[in-house]
Amino acid sequence: MFQRIAFIGMLAAAILLQPLAVVAQTKTLKPGFNFFSKDQDIQLGKEAAAQIEREVPVLNNPEMERWLAELAKPLISQPEAGDYPYTFKWVNDPNINAFALPGGPVYMNTGLLSHADNEGQVVGVLAHEIGHVALRHGTNQVSRANLFTIPAMIGAMAVGDRGILGQLSQLGVGLGLNGVLMKYSRGAETQSDQLGALLMHRAGYNPLEMANFFEKLEALAGNRSGVANWFSSHPNPGNRVETVQKEILTFDRREYNRDSKQFARMKAMAGKLPPPPAAAKPGQGGQGAAQVPIPAASSIEAPSSRTRTHSSTSFEATHPDNWQVSRAQQGEAVTIAPSYGQVQLPNGGGALGYGAMFDLRASNGTGRLEETAAAIAQEVVRNNPGLQTTEEPMRIMVDGKRAMLYMLSGPGPYQNVTEIVVMAVIERSANDVVTAIFVAPERDYNRFEPTFKNMLRTVKVR
Ligand SMILES: [Zn+2]
Repeated sequence: MFQRIAFIGMLAAAILLQPLAVVAQTKTLKPGFNFFSKDQDIQLGKEAAAQIEREVPVLNNPEMERWLAELAKPLISQPEAGDYPYTFKWVNDPNINAFALPGGPVYMNTGLLSHADNEGQVVGVLAHEIGHVALRHGTNQVSRANLFTIPAMIGAMAVGDRGILGQLSQLGVGLGLNGVLMKYSRGAETQSDQLGALLMHRAGYNPLEMANFFEKLEALAGNRSGVANWFSSHPNPGNRVETVQKEILTFDRREYNRDSKQFARMKAMAGKLPPPPAAAKPGQGGQGAAQVPIPAASSIEAPSSRTRTHSSTSFEATHPDNWQVSRAQQGEAVTIAPSYGQVQLPNGGGALGYGAMFDLRASNGTGRLEETAAAIAQEVVRNNPGLQTTEEPMRIMVDGKRAMLYMLSGPGPYQNVTEIVVMAVIERSANDVVTAIFVAPERDYNRFEPTFKNMLRTVKVR
């Protein structure tokens, strides 16, 4: 409290004495509250990098790697970058994403390069990721989310023992891109933009290119699911261009003219890369390395009893109001899930850990609901290796329509945890059916079953 008052006092004094631009310059971005030491950030980052690199297709292209290191060099040489042992690697993945691990490892998907308009935009992503490392957002968030457990853990920890990552996984903190270690708050996003802008400015790149690129990705996100990973780990704090413009006002004037002149060639090279080795597709679980630790049971927010209704052309689904609706890029498919239920797998794929999915599907042409439902169930099993039906399908009625109910279980997106899947195939017309799929880990299934039943009971088919 004392510090805060002192800070406000200082700021007031500064406003009285200085022109506005200089006031803003006195603001420095500092890492927030953290139980971990800088060395522990570095150690955790090393352990996490070793795991990540077993799971994502790191690109082996010395020329592109050299270029990335060259772009990053003038950024990390600034004192504000915090003197971490930074490393920069490309991931051969057409989806748009980049992520930083505590203490320095930064990964950029080649898909970013394919969507960038100039070198400054690539540098912008680097600068933003460096911001997350320097401001220690990952371990700051882990510290805040585990106020009571982390100090004891660190107290009992000998480095080199089971490793920090291993200990964190006991708390349900893993490398899933949706986890607290990798999914940043909007406040953290703004801070990374601010620090990134400063680093770009010092390096001779126009900081606005960073904000421009993020806004471009935002516009793409509406119709391309390949951008979803980026916004899942880096949520849009809004007003990015404005934020960066304000930062630029606090910098001394300079020309932004750094350019390696290699952007066009590198972008062309990224466009011609061989496809990455096949990875698990969204919705596929049970692939060992493609799984993440399950969140701690205590961190699972219960479904709210207050509801909202999602309406599409062919159906209506009522759901807890603390679950979010994500639409597919085409058709009426929709995922309705709590934020922790949409799992980002380390290989860049996504899977549903908790929540529901609805879709409109064509029937198989025989006019027999049982056959259409069986074909859909087979497809679900085929796409989710290890998943099996556990009971004979049941005939039920949903909203006055005939429906087939399937119970399935098998490996899901969480390590060592069985996933329960309930699927209803509801006859809409002679030509199509509405599918409603509900998913929760066996550990928590009983807590979610009443919600699933309510959702199924209130589905409207139109
Ligand atoms: Zn970010």
